[in-house]
Amino acid sequence: MRILVTGGAGFLGSHLCDRLVKDGHEVICLDNFFTGRKVNIAHLLGNPQFELLRHDIIDPLKIEVDQIYNLACPASPPHYQYNPIKTTKTSVMGAINCLGLAKRVKARVFQASTSEVYGDPQVHPQPESYWGHVNPVGRRACYDEGKRCAETLFFDYHRENKVDIRVVRIFNTYGPRMLANDGRVVSNFIVQALKGEDLTVYGDGSQTRSFCFVDDLIEGFVRFMAQNESVGPMNLGNPGEFTMLQLAELTIQLVGGASKIVHKPLPPDDPRQRRPDIALAKKLLNWEPRVRLEDGLRQTIEYFRRQVGA
Ligand code: NAD
Ligand code: UDP
Repeated sequence: MRILVTGGAGFLGSHLCDRLVKDGHEVICLDNFFTGRKVNIAHLLGNPQFELLRHDIIDPLKIEVDQIYNLACPASPPHYQYNPIKTTKTSVMGAINCLGLAKRVKARVFQASTSEVYGDPQVHPQPESYWGHVNPVGRRACYDEGKRCAETLFFDYHRENKVDIRVVRIFNTYGPRMLANDGRVVSNFIVQALKGEDLTVYGDGSQTRSFCFVDDLIEGFVRFMAQNESVGPMNLGNPGEFTMLQLAELTIQLVGGASKIVHKPLPPDDPRQRRPDIALAKKLLNWEPRVRLEDGLRQTIEYFRRQVGA
């Protein structure tokens, strides 16, 4: 198949491009390079199965493809809050443009939605049936509401125009090719530990997240896209739940060195807890994460060790 990956030069997108090329597909990687980097896909550039397109997904495009994976959108809070209006535009207009394209060429279209649609959840763990608890006017709203509106558009194009959609809600995912200055917790902690700096735990560190290694997630993407039973939304993530203090301690233990933990103010609307209910993915895709946090962190630490020369 010929497959378009928007946001293909980013963290998740570049791993997805690798996987799709490996599976024998022709891949068109679209990116505006806001948080993506050419180095993430440099090894694919000479491959005749691979094509790179510099384009902003807020503008429509005409292209002939069989499938679309829509991943274009900054994912880390500092990056999506840098230009919040652009973040909402990317989610909403990006969804409209991908759906319009899918409708025209009759392509199956995948949306990278997020656990952020659940906001600061009052139901725990979060099943797909939970409608969420989002502050619509807060700092995170540009991302959360943008992604919620994108889901709405996906389901309306599906109901009104029979567009063949697949919507996944991704929970915190980490691994090689995250940006060193990404601002997300795993990359922050690892880079700080490698540089011998103190690890910045926001708030008292009792808030929880569930961390999925990138290889597990990409396997889930491909399985979900290949099945015909559900259009989603489907949670994909690792149900192992950790406090940020536990993550900081584990990172220091794995990296070694003399780093300590320091506390910084908790950002506004920071969700207290997050853990996916993955019963649907288990049942329909026979999928569950295989990589333990400690093993995934080791691989990610090795990647950043090469990046920061530590
Ligand atoms: P990332 O920032 O590494 O990747 C996003 C990519 O999209 C980058 O290459 C960026 O340059 C590109 N991009 C941004 N705006 C664009 C635009 N207007 N036009 C074209 N390209 C644009 O982040 P990621 O972690 O790889 O996330 C990929 C997708 O998965 C995002 O949609 C994100 O919301 C979603 N997601 C990720 C996670 C996670 O934990 N990694 C969790 C939930 C959802
Ligand atoms: N966090 C932290 N120190 C950091 C970066 C983040 O303690 O240097 C916390 C943050 O407040 C949140 C959790 O780690 O509670 C996950 O943050 P991240 O930005 O990775 O993802 P999200 O909040 O979007 O899940």
